[in-house]
Amino acid sequence: MTSTDTTRTSLFIGGRWRTPATTDTIPVISPLTEEQTGTIPASSTADVDAAVAAARETFRSDSWRAQSHAERADMMRRFADALEARAEARAHAVTAENGMPIALARFAEGAAPVQLLRYYADLIEAAPREERRNSQPMPGTTVVRRDPVGVVAAIAPWNFPAVLSMFKIAPALAAGCTVVLKPSPETTLDSYLLAEAAVEAGLPAGAINIVTGGAETGRYLVAHPGIDKVAFTGSTAAGRQIGAVCGELLRPVTLELGGKSAALVLDDADLEATVAGLPAASLLNAGQTCYMSTRVLVPRTAYDSYLEAITEMARSLPIGDPLDEDTFIGPLVSDRQRRRVLDHIEQGRADGGTVTTGGGAPAGIDRGYFVAPTVFGGVDNGSAIARNEIFGPVLTVLSYDDLDDAVAIANDSEYGLGGTVWTSDEERGLDVARRVETGSFGVNTFNLDWGSPFGGVKASGLGRELGAEGLAAYQQTKSIFLPA
Ligand code: NAD
Repeated sequence: MTSTDTTRTSLFIGGRWRTPATTDTIPVISPLTEEQTGTIPASSTADVDAAVAAARETFRSDSWRAQSHAERADMMRRFADALEARAEARAHAVTAENGMPIALARFAEGAAPVQLLRYYADLIEAAPREERRNSQPMPGTTVVRRDPVGVVAAIAPWNFPAVLSMFKIAPALAAGCTVVLKPSPETTLDSYLLAEAAVEAGLPAGAINIVTGGAETGRYLVAHPGIDKVAFTGSTAAGRQIGAVCGELLRPVTLELGGKSAALVLDDADLEATVAGLPAASLLNAGQTCYMSTRVLVPRTAYDSYLEAITEMARSLPIGDPLDEDTFIGPLVSDRQRRRVLDHIEQGRADGGTVTTGGGAPAGIDRGYFVAPTVFGGVDNGSAIARNEIFGPVLTVLSYDDLDDAVAIANDSEYGLGGTVWTSDEERGLDVARRVETGSFGVNTFNLDWGSPFGGVKASGLGRELGAEGLAAYQQTKSIFLPA
């Protein structure tokens, strides 16, 4: 990346770099320095119309959807190679945009999108386009066909922009769909590298199109008559609005929304190992990760020792420049996000919670949108700090009486996205996992698996991404009945 890469003036539509319809721009702000480093164009409705038209034309033209699964898989592998060549640049772009520690960005934003393209290339190559089933109750045969759902509006948040975009793009392309991607205004620059890789790989023009802008652009895209399916990751509030629009239009929609997951620490857990596992499970990307286990449930009899150990862990996490390889906590994405997180902390204090570490800007850092890792004790699961999604480095340590109580507290949430259990007995952990109302759960770890579905229950969303289920979300079936 050079400094000029922080300013872009064109939009990627129909396989070409186009001049936007207006000269409006969106500032690019460094979360580390709080200074403006560049600008991106702001798409107008005319630009969105052009992007949807390009995606539709490509979809109709058969240049993508009519290719054999093997041909599509080959093209996706070329795309993956071109993206891999830009993995380091992409990781740096995301770190500059949202403050993600570079070591995490290398994996999540550099390598993971490449892996996802290759995973879905393999999956579609092995998948039959049609299968034959014996009919019942009348004798005969039914041909079940899987067709691409059409033109996809993919709307991504700022916390993991590259990989969450690819959660949608890879299965959509594999299915034969075309895509209009709208990244978040905070994290758009990295998607220009995606576009460059698409051009280099020779992806059909119009298979991927990128529009810029915020909620207003997103709303226009979601309701656009040229869109056949919406795939959204973001807040529950926006997800509800999008779900309502898609319901009215009877437009298929996948919603990956917020969370307030629980870490259930069982009475047989090893304290040291558990607390060592919590940074990755509960504070990844300064807590700006949707599936974080931010409510830590510990046995009442061990509450004081856990609160002390978790406080010490949070206090000792390396915080600072996200380009430093050792940094675990970088700045939050924006001033707005920092203010939101600090407001939640104030609410927690006002409700009588005790902050055992953190609670504001970290000592010795006087610029950047930093919030020190913060631990709350002395509240119950009814308090706002335990109920609201904070999306920052804030943990609440809660106590429980017995296993049933722990499961009841974990399930007493509007959300159901992730969660973890910490125990020395894996079978006991699995048993707890089965009882928690959630879309995904980890025993002594939490690692997303590209081959298994991911998504939420309750206010955490609708539908699933990843795995074969994630591919099916971009296909529609047609049943063709043949006589015996
Ligand atoms: P957000 O909902 O404000 O924005 C997400 C994206 O949607 C952005 O691109 C935004 O421009 C667009 N958008 C906003 N309102 C829209 C609307 N009404 N119609 C169409 N598009 C709209 O969320 P955010 O602040 O960018 O991201 C943080 C939130 O996302 C958190 O609540 C977090 O839990 C959630 N999230 C969920 C997951 C998941 O997989 N479940 C992953 C990451 C983030």
